[in-house]
Amino acid sequence: MDALRSHEPAAVTARLRVRVRGLVQGVGFRPRVYTLAQRHALTGWVRNDGEGVLLEVEGRATRAFLADLAHAPPPLARIDAIEHDPIPTQGEQAFRIDPSSAGAATTRIGPDTVVCDGCLEELFDPTDRRWRYPFLNCTHCGPRYTITRGLPYDRPRTAMAPFSMCEACAREYADPLDRRFHAQPTACPDCGPQLSVPIETVVTALAAGAIVAIKGLGGYQLACDARDSSVVERLRRRKHRDAKPFAVMVASLAAASRIAHVDDQAAALLAARERPIVLLPRREDSGLSDALAPGLDTVGVMLPAAPLHYLLFHEVAGRPSGTAWLDAPPDVAWVMTSANPAGQPLVIDDDEARASLGGIADLIVSHDRGVLVRNDDSVVQADRRGPVFVRRARGYVPTPIHLDRDRPPVLALGGYLKTTICVTRGREAYLSQHVGDLDDHATRRFHDEVREHLLALVQSTPIAVAHDLHPDFPSTRAARSVGLPTVAVQHHHAHLAAVAAEHRHTGPLLGLALDGVGYGPDGTIWGGELLDIDGARYERLARLAPLRQPGGDRAALEPWRMAAAALWALGRGEEIESRFPAERSAPAIASVIERRLNTPETSSLGRMFDAAAALLGVATTSAYEGEAAMRLEALVRRPVTSEAFGFTPEGELDLRPLFERLAGVDAQTGAELFHGTLIHALAGWLEDHAHGRGRSTVALGGGCLLNRVLRQGLVETLEASGLTVLTPRLAPPGDGGLSLGQAWVAAHTVEGS
Ligand code: ZN
Ligand code: ZN
Ligand code: FE
Repeated sequence: MDALRSHEPAAVTARLRVRVRGLVQGVGFRPRVYTLAQRHALTGWVRNDGEGVLLEVEGRATRAFLADLAHAPPPLARIDAIEHDPIPTQGEQAFRIDPSSAGAATTRIGPDTVVCDGCLEELFDPTDRRWRYPFLNCTHCGPRYTITRGLPYDRPRTAMAPFSMCEACAREYADPLDRRFHAQPTACPDCGPQLSVPIETVVTALAAGAIVAIKGLGGYQLACDARDSSVVERLRRRKHRDAKPFAVMVASLAAASRIAHVDDQAAALLAARERPIVLLPRREDSGLSDALAPGLDTVGVMLPAAPLHYLLFHEVAGRPSGTAWLDAPPDVAWVMTSANPAGQPLVIDDDEARASLGGIADLIVSHDRGVLVRNDDSVVQADRRGPVFVRRARGYVPTPIHLDRDRPPVLALGGYLKTTICVTRGREAYLSQHVGDLDDHATRRFHDEVREHLLALVQSTPIAVAHDLHPDFPSTRAARSVGLPTVAVQHHHAHLAAVAAEHRHTGPLLGLALDGVGYGPDGTIWGGELLDIDGARYERLARLAPLRQPGGDRAALEPWRMAAAALWALGRGEEIESRFPAERSAPAIASVIERRLNTPETSSLGRMFDAAAALLGVATTSAYEGEAAMRLEALVRRPVTSEAFGFTPEGELDLRPLFERLAGVDAQTGAELFHGTLIHALAGWLEDHAHGRGRSTVALGGGCLLNRVLRQGLVETLEASGLTVLTPRLAPPGDGGLSLGQAWVAAHTVEGS
C-alpha cells in the first residue's frame, strides 16, 4: 500500500480509489485535489463523506498525483492516512467535485487559525473589496472551533448563521477553484459582521492611555499601552490582579526582537499559525513597563492572531498598502490579556461585557458575531525540543493527540486547578481548552459547557468517566452526575499517564511526578513522587521526605509557612519569628506545626520550592500558585550542584540538608544551589531505580516541569546517563494535562474489566 515509493510504467492508464483520513474537511481539500488532478491530467471525482475524503483518479500520473497530495496538502489539513486501491478504468472526460453526500457527518473541526498570507494581502490592499475588513477569512484561515456549535460543520451550525452571503461572497463560496470554496465563515464588508467602533478610534484611545476591551476570537481581551506603567498599574488594580504577568502583542517578529531575546525556536513558535503567547527572556532595553511581570525576567509575547489585531498596528503605521511595513513595524507594544474579572472565565457575551468590564475598560470594542465557546490564548515556553505548554487553548484545540491504538471511548473531567477535559474517540484524544480553577460558580458552569461542546464536536459516546481521586472536587461531583461508570485516578498517576499516552508508551513506566498539590490516598498531600505506572495501575516506590504544611492550602500562597516548617524540621523553630517579622502568625506557627493543627504532611516539590524561596527571602507570599518558585528560578544564572541531601531509611529523598545550607546564604547563591542540587539529587534517585528495575526509559511529569532550569537540567543529566526521557510535549506538564492522563488510565481500566 505504499504509494510513494512504488514504481510502475509511466505510460499505463490506471484508476485508483483513494481514501484520505484526518482533518480534511472544511480546509480546502477538495479544491486542492481538483487542482492537482488538472495538473496531472487526471479524470475522476472527489467528495466528502462520513470518514473523510473519498476520491477516484484515472490517468497516467496517478502515482505522482498521490505523492503531491501527500507532500503538499492545503495548509490547515492534517492527513492521518491515505489508503488507495486500483480499480477498473472508466474513461470519463473530466474531473469533478461532487457535492457532499447528504447526511454525512463532517469528521473533524479544526482549531481557530491565524489569518493566512492570502487574506493578509487582501487586508492591506486598498483595491480589494475586503481592504481593512476585520472579519475576512478563507478555507486556509479564520475561526472554527469557537464559532461551531456541532456537526456537520456548515454555516447554519456556526455563529455565522445570522449573516447571509452577498452575491460576490456566494460566488466565491460556490467556485471550486476559489480560496473560499465552501469556507463556512466567509464574509465581506457588505454581508458580514461589523465592528462597533472604528479602528482609528481604538488606536487613538490606546495611544491616549486608555484600557480597551476588545472582542476577539475566543472572548474579550483587555488591551493597553505596555510601555506606560500608569495604565498597566491601573489595569492591575481594576482587574484585581496583583502580580500575575500580562502578555504583550507586537506587530511582527521584527518588533518582538526589540523587546525580547528571540532565538530560532522562539521565532518559529511566535510565527506559528497557532499564534501562542511565547514566554521569552525580556531585553534590558525593552522599554516595557516593569509592572507587566513583577519580579520575573521573562515576558509573554504574541504576534497578531486575528485580522483585527493586524489592523490596529496597520492604523498606527499609517495604513500602508502591502505587507512590507511588517518588516519595519511601528514601535508599539500592547498588553493583550484575557478580559475576565479575577478568577472568573473569559467574558464572551456582549451584555456581560458591558456589565462586568464596564468598571475595567474605558472603551469596549464589540462586534455582532457571537463567540460560542470561550477559548483563551495559549501560552508556551520555547524549548530546544519544541513548545512546552503552560496553557493549551486557542490554535491547538481541538487538534487531537494520537494514542497508540484504538482505545475505548472515555470522558475525563480533570482536577481542580487549571482544569481541562478530555474526550477520546478511537485512537484520538481530544484535550479541551484551558477551563481554569473550579473555585467559582462561573468556571464550574464553563466546565459543563466545554464538556457539552467537546462531546458535540467529537461525537464520541463515552462508556466511562474519569475524575481525580479527591472526593470533594467539583469535577469529581460532576463525574458522578454523568451517569456512567466512574474511574477515580490518583493525581500523580494521571500526570505520568498523560506522558505515557502522548508518547504511546505501553507497559510499565518509571517516572517522577514533580508537582504542586495532589490528593494522596494516605491522607497526605502528594507532589514529589517516584512512581511505577502501568496502564490502570501504579505503585509508589518512594517520595520526597515530607515536610509539614501548616495551614493546609493556605501555605501554597504563603511560602513563609513552608520555610517555617523547614526550619522546624531542622530543629531551628526558634528562628521563625525573627526571620519573618512581618507575618502576624509567625510567633505561633512553631506550636501549630508541633501540634499538627490543620497541618498535613506534604511531599510536594512545589512546597519545597516555596520553602526555599521564603528561606532565601525571595518571596514570603505568592499572589498566585508557583509565583515564589518562578521568582527563585529567575535568579538562577547557572545551577550549582552540591551533595547537600540525603535519604531516609525508607528511601525517601531528604532535602533537609539543602534547607540547612539555604538558611545561611544569599538569595542568588541559594537559588543556584537549590536548583543544581535538586537536579543532581532527583536525577540520581530516578537513575538508581531505573537501573534497579532494568529500565531504559523514564518519564517526568507535573507542574514543576514548567521550571526551565529544573526541566532542562533533569533531561540533560538523565540522558547523559543513557536513559531515554519522556516529557510532556503535546499537553501541559501541569494540571492542564491531567485529564489526558485520567482518560488513559480510564481506558485501560475499562479494557481490563
Ligand atoms: Zn485566509
Ligand atoms: Zn459578502
Ligand atoms: Fe498536578
